[in-house]
Amino acid sequence: MIEFIFDRAIQRYRYADSGKFVGAKAIENLTIKAIVQVEGDITTITNLLIEGKITVETWEDGTRSALKNLHTWNYLLGAGGEKQMSQSDYGSLGQKIKQEYKYLRGLAQELVEGKVTEAQLRARMAQYAASGGTTHELGRAKSHQKAGYFWEKRIRTKLNSCESCYRYAEMLWQPIASLPEAGQKCECRSNCGCYKVFSRNLTKPGDSILEQGFGWLGKLHTRKYGIRQTDTVRFIRSISVRSIDSAKE
Ligand SMILES: [Zn+2]
Repeated sequence: MIEFIFDRAIQRYRYADSGKFVGAKAIENLTIKAIVQVEGDITTITNLLIEGKITVETWEDGTRSALKNLHTWNYLLGAGGEKQMSQSDYGSLGQKIKQEYKYLRGLAQELVEGKVTEAQLRARMAQYAASGGTTHELGRAKSHQKAGYFWEKRIRTKLNSCESCYRYAEMLWQPIASLPEAGQKCECRSNCGCYKVFSRNLTKPGDSILEQGFGWLGKLHTRKYGIRQTDTVRFIRSISVRSIDSAKE
C-alpha cells in the first residue's frame, strides 16, 4: 500500500517513500470523489423513498449516515488525517455535522407534511452533497491555524458568488481566523466555491501570489492529477501515523 505523510509546516501531503509532494489538484480530486460518491449514495436512498419502498424515517437515517461519512472524510482530508485531529477539530467537525443533521431534520418534517416536490427534494440532496466541499475547507483552515500560520485570504471560484463572498475576497490578506469559512455568513451556503490561501509571513503578505481558481463540483481531474489508483477513504487510511514538520528539521 502506498503510504502518505502529512507535512505540518507546509500543510501538504507527501509520498512516504520518495518524500515527493502530492499535488494540490490530487487532493482536490479526492474531495470531489467523496462528494460524488455520497451524492450517488443519497440519490439511491432518495429514489427508494420516491418509489415508496422505504419510509421517511429509513430515508433520514440512511441519509444521515452518508452525510456523516462525507463530512468526516473531507474534514480529515483537509486536516491532515486522523492523527492530526485535536479535540478542537472534533468539535468543529461535530458542529458541522450537527448543523447538517438539523437541515435534514427540517427537510424530513417538510416531506412528512407533503410540502416538498420531487424536484425540490433532488435539488436539496445535491446541495447537501456539495456542502462536503466547505467541510474540506473547514478542516484546512483549522489545520493552518494550529500550524501557526498568520494570514489568510479568500479566493472566489464562481462567476456567480454572492455579494458577501465578493466582499470577503476584496478584503485580501487578513489575520488568520478572521474571515468567515467557505459557506458561512454568505448566501451561497453549501454551494460556496470559495477557498482560503494561507501565509506564515510575519508581516502582511503582498498580493503577488499566483492564484488558481477551482470549484468543487463538475471537474474531476483525470489522469494527470490522480494519485495512482485511489479513492478518498483509501487515501485517508494510508496516511502514515508518522507526520513531519519540515520547518523544524
Ligand atoms: Zn457566498
